[in-house]
Parts: sequence; C-alpha cells; structure tokens
Amino acid sequence: MAEPGSIAERVKQQADIVRVIGEYVRLKKSGQNFVGLCPFHQEKTPSFAVHPAKQIYHCFGCGAGGDVFRFVMEMDKISFPEAVRAVAEKCGIPLPAWRGHGGPQAAQATEQRRVLVEMQKEAAAFFQRQLETAEGRAARGYLEDRGLAPATIARFGLGWAPSGGELLARHLRSRFPAALLDASGLVSRDRGGHAFDRFRRRVMFPIATDAGQVVAFGGRALGDEMPKYLNSPETRIYTKSRVLYNLDRAREAIRREGFAVLVEGYMDAIALAEAGVENVVASCGTSLGDAQARLLARFARRVVVNYDVDAAGQAATDRSLALLLGAEFQVHVLLLPSAGDAKTDPDQFVRERGAAAYRELLAGAPLYLDYLVGRARRLDTGAVEGKLRAVNFLLPYLGLLPSPLARSEWASRVAAELRVDQTVLRQSLAQAAAERRPELKPAPELLARIGLAVAATPAERRLLKMLLDADALRARLAEEIRRGDLHQGLETEKLFAALVDAAAGPVGRGSAETLAALGERLEERDRRLLFELAFESAAEASWEEAESCLEVLARRKLESELRSVQAEIETLKAGRGEAGERKAQLLRLLERKQSLQKSLRGHEE
Ligand SMILES: [Zn+2]
Repeated sequence: MAEPGSIAERVKQQADIVRVIGEYVRLKKSGQNFVGLCPFHQEKTPSFAVHPAKQIYHCFGCGAGGDVFRFVMEMDKISFPEAVRAVAEKCGIPLPAWRGHGGPQAAQATEQRRVLVEMQKEAAAFFQRQLETAEGRAARGYLEDRGLAPATIARFGLGWAPSGGELLARHLRSRFPAALLDASGLVSRDRGGHAFDRFRRRVMFPIATDAGQVVAFGGRALGDEMPKYLNSPETRIYTKSRVLYNLDRAREAIRREGFAVLVEGYMDAIALAEAGVENVVASCGTSLGDAQARLLARFARRVVVNYDVDAAGQAATDRSLALLLGAEFQVHVLLLPSAGDAKTDPDQFVRERGAAAYRELLAGAPLYLDYLVGRARRLDTGAVEGKLRAVNFLLPYLGLLPSPLARSEWASRVAAELRVDQTVLRQSLAQAAAERRPELKPAPELLARIGLAVAATPAERRLLKMLLDADALRARLAEEIRRGDLHQGLETEKLFAALVDAAAGPVGRGSAETLAALGERLEERDRRLLFELAFESAAEASWEEAESCLEVLARRKLESELRSVQAEIETLKAGRGEAGERKAQLLRLLERKQSLQKSLRGHEE
C-alpha cells in the first residue's frame, strides 16, 4: 500500500504501531508481542496481537489484520491518505505542506494515476468506435444475438478489441507518455520489447469504480481463443478485489431497494439491468473478496446471491456466501430452475422467461441458512451418522453468525428441522450454539472446511515459517521448493509461491514494510495464515529439519501423482476407443506408475 519512497512509507518507518494501536486498545506485553481484546469483534479473552518488529497486527479470532494504516482506516472509517496523516499526527512526524496532496512525490503519483485513468477512458472510446467497423460487426452481431439493444450496448460502453494487434498501442502512444504505456495494463510486450495490444479479437467490457471511473477491462473471446475471459492486470488504479462490476450504475437502485443482486458474469449483470433489475452487481468470478463485501456494505446489508451454486464452483461459492454471512449481511440464495440438463444463468433466464418471472423468483429467494438446512437435510439419512453429518455440515456456518442471539435461534431451528435429539445436539452444537460462550469463534478446522481458512499440515507450516524467518536457510529452501515444484496442488500453494518469489527480495530480509505489502496482495485466507505464522514463536531451524519437511512434501507429491495415474489407468481400462491406441497409452501409464513407485521407495529408504 505504501509505495517505496513515498511519504506513507516514511511515516510508517517512523511510526510506532504499538503506540498508535495502544490509543484504541489496552495492550499487554506478551513475549516479543503485545496482546489485547480485539476491537473488531466481541470477545472476553484476548486474541488480538501486535508485532512491533514486523509492524503488523493480527486477530486470531476474526482474522482482521494489516499494518498501522489499515488499522486506523478500519477503526476510524477513513481513507488511506487520511490515515497516513492521522498516524503522522499521532506520532509527531512532521509532514511536508499537505493541502490535500502531500509533497512532490505524492503529487507525482496523483498525476500518474490521473493519466492512467485518462488512458482507460481513451481506450474505452477506442473500443467503442471499433464496434462500428467492418471487423466489429461480428461482435455487434454476437451482442444483438444475446438480446442486447443498441441503447444497452451504448449504456454499458461495450466495445471491440480489433485483431490487428497494435492499433490501440499505437493510438495510445500518440497521446500519452511512453513510460506509462506499460503501467496501463492495456499493452503487453514480446521478448524483443515490442509493444502490442493485450486485448485482441475480444468483446470489451469496461470495468469502473463505484464512482464510475473506468479503471480496467474484461475481454470476452468471440471464437475459441483461450482464455474465454481475459482481464486487465492489477495496476496502480485497479485492484481486482476492490471493484464490483456495475456498482457505479447500480448503487442508487441498491440503496432504494435495500438490497443487491449478486451475479457472476458481466453478461448476467447487463441482461438483468436491461430487464429492469437495476440493483445488480457482478463479482466477475465465483469468489467474492472481503474488500468487495465491505464495498457493498456501504450501500445495503441485504444481498441475493444468484450464482450457479450447484456447479463445479461450489466451494468458491460457499466461501463467498460464508464471507457475506460473517460480514453481517442478510444473505438470500436464488437458484434458477434448470432447463433439462443445462444450468440456467440469469442472462439466459431473463431472455427466455422474461423479467416478471425473474422478479417473482427473486422475491421468494430463501435465506442462505434455509438453503443450507435444505442441503443438510439431504445428508440426513435418518440414522445417527447421517444426522451427525448434517449437523457437522451446518456447524461452521452457525459459528459464523456474528450475533449470539441469531446463533441460538438458528441452533434451535436446526434441531427442529433435522429432528436431532437433545443428546446429539448437545454434543455437537455445544461449541457452536454459543449460549454459554458468547465470544465463540469457529475453529480454524471448521473454517478450513468451508474454505475460509487454509488447511496446512505441520510440515507445510514449518516450511512457511522458515521461509519467513530463517534468514540462513531461506534462499536454499526457496530454490529446492521451486525446483521440485513441491508446493504444487497444496492448499498452501499460493502462499508458498508468494514467499518463494519474495525470498530474494526485501521480505526475505525480514522487512516489516514488505510483510504487510505482501499480505495486501494475497487472498484474505492466505494473508491470515501468513500473519498467524509471523506471530508464532518458533525454535531455531536447521537444514536437517528443513530437509525432512521437504521430504514430506516430495512424498505427498509423488503419492498424489501416483493416484492420478492410477485413476487414468482405470478410466482407460473401462473406456471405449481404438484398441491399439489404448494399449499404447496404457503401456505409457504403467511405465509411469512403475517409475513413480520406484521413486517413492527411494524416499522410504
Ligand atoms: Zn478480532
């Protein structure tokens, strides 16, 4: 967040995080850290910790965490520049003349951002013009086939990225400083350093902030090009997790109606808006982030989620829903009836069945917990194990409810609905029902089960901790992990990748500044685990210990490869197809299986 060399960074280096947070929270020294009662959730025993050396805070209960600026922003509900100023004042750090800007560096950064915004605006106009060309006609045809009126195409600023490959790059170069071309996210470079258009042969959807400023684009391939959807990369003006598509047009309607409809894709949002459901936003992907939830909370606390919840993205969808629940949203789930085998998305539904039918379903969308109870009931076979399975399925969600009263109400409803007898209920719901433990927080294992926390084995945790703290081992360790791709497929894969990448950089040298910055770039659940590890005190690590942990990862990887080869073999044996072809393939797989088994034996010795 604080850019290198910026005023914010200087303030952060001089500020004392313990002193600033100490103004809000009574902190007590505990080992090398300070602990206190978390100001972000209700609790009776302290789970909130501040790390003076790493300059971060973290709550082991609710997961809140960040650097000194994030803390002040969240506590005082102020913007980043205001937080920088507030921290500087609290710590008596003199600032250059402010007047809403903050010195030459800040002024320069502001100017750069202004130009980047200007470039996106120019690009949006460019893409729109391209829709009128001979080449753009196919794209216009596609949009019209999907039922979009010319007025809608214009209102959403839809456009066409031509196949030429450098038309936009050339156009931008003639108007803007070359140095900012790369920072715009609109231009890529080949190996020879030659600039070309990032988006080619794609229908373009401008993505704007809630204030209506275009900051990025989503591009949909018309043909079979992959990926089907290509997004702008994150830039100085665009953070994917902080933008909701269509919020700028929908915000007034959301306030007026008291709720938002949350859909997955651009086309869903546009089709619904065209059909008169104006209070619709898209998360652009199945996984909603914390920041997006906070953004939405500024306009309404009720949301109807209209995802494809039975699809492959179930886990990601569950995570988004659970996140909204934990953020004190009243969450409803709208499941559209499927047509035959095919799932119906909102876009298709309003086109085929009309807006009135959609509104009717919208009004009747059940509460999220009702929907979950429905799912739990399907697990309930009537026998004790079935009931336990159903109760266990619901437990983590109940634990997420912020209010003890709501938790207790839902606990009795679950008992009644599942006809769970008192003994089973007392055993299983005791931790979640919360009458006796108002400060209850779901345990990490429960959070992991619904995707809100990262499940990590002891070996993974130990290795991550070493990458974080063991200066003498870090480089070698990172190299070993990278070389063997040992983190591939792990729950902790992303966190490993980030730390391995950072091993050479300043995080590797334990810089407090960059640990918080690294956290900002990670997904929320990865950031939580990172901060948790940062607070853990651990014994000095040796290379022998590192090797034994690496060994665990290597074995796990071989075993998982072996499992997938075995599965392929079985599919092949059961499958149809040309016999000679299949035999050759089977032979290859059997060889692969043997060599994997051999390597595994090698690891056992
Ligand atoms: Zn907390």
